[in-house]
Amino acid sequence: MGLVDKFKAGLRATQEKLSHEISRIVSGSPKLDQESLEELEFVLVGADLGMGAAQRIISAIKEGYESQGSGGVNVFSLARQEIAGVFNQPVVELHCGNGLTIVSLVGVNGTGKTTTSAKLAHRFQMNGGKTMLAACDTFRAAAVEQLKQWGQRLDVPVIAGSYGADPASVAHDAVIAALARKADYLFIDTAGRLHTKNNLMAELEKLHRVVDKQEPGAPHEVLLIVDATTGMNALSQAREFHRVVPLTGLVVTKLDGTSKGGMVVAIHDELKLPIKFVGLGEQADDLQPFDPTQFAEALFAD
Ligand code: GDP
Repeated sequence: MGLVDKFKAGLRATQEKLSHEISRIVSGSPKLDQESLEELEFVLVGADLGMGAAQRIISAIKEGYESQGSGGVNVFSLARQEIAGVFNQPVVELHCGNGLTIVSLVGVNGTGKTTTSAKLAHRFQMNGGKTMLAACDTFRAAAVEQLKQWGQRLDVPVIAGSYGADPASVAHDAVIAALARKADYLFIDTAGRLHTKNNLMAELEKLHRVVDKQEPGAPHEVLLIVDATTGMNALSQAREFHRVVPLTGLVVTKLDGTSKGGMVVAIHDELKLPIKFVGLGEQADDLQPFDPTQFAEALFAD
């Protein structure tokens, strides 16, 4: 399957729901009266696009109907334009310096940090980079094992601590190893933590401080991994994490299993953080750079 098709397939659940509902409302009310517009807004908010984006789409539709009449307006194409307009900055996949780029992956439990670390290491290895992984989720023996298995499968070296080891000291060792091996990228898989738990957030800050001491300016990227199936919960996670550890971007995982893919828009709209990648499955190559135009087209295909 080509990249664009994968993207479309991943967002199919969200798209089908939107397309079905929008077509029903538009065909049932060719003049789109106030009640139908409200119903449309409800559908957009239901796909977790967020109030701001939903209202802008509705305003564009209303304006279109007022100036061109129902014949000249395509609701889907207006929605695509509005969505693509939300993401108006070009996305840089990852920081690219002369030496080692260190990327820390953070987020709550189960969002896909370990899997995404492996997918990223694979992606940048396939692009010709030397990549390494650091298993800093020392709270869960299974997480360390899981990353080691990915490393073996993908032929990417993994620096791991033992169960219960200090995550900051594992990160420290991993940075030394990555520098010694002249790696281009080190991906640090951190433990899942609730953004509401202050001690765990402090531990994450410590890990980043230790990395910065070893390699000034690092981590160069702090990516929040959010699970698309959690809808608007992801927005509150993003808000809180960003307050404590300034994020450089987001990766939205499990877009393949949700009808709430619109939350990507709501998060970007509020926090203006770049969505760097999206996860569209469980395999190593089921990770794609986020492309706003493709995303808008996949979401509002008519
Ligand atoms: P962590 O606790 O944040 O490290 O999460 P894991 O990486 O262990 O992932 C939790 C589960 O989500 C695993 O079963 C993964 O295979 C699955 N997963 C991760 N990313 C994706 C994705 O993009 N799509 C789907 N369908 N599953 C994913």
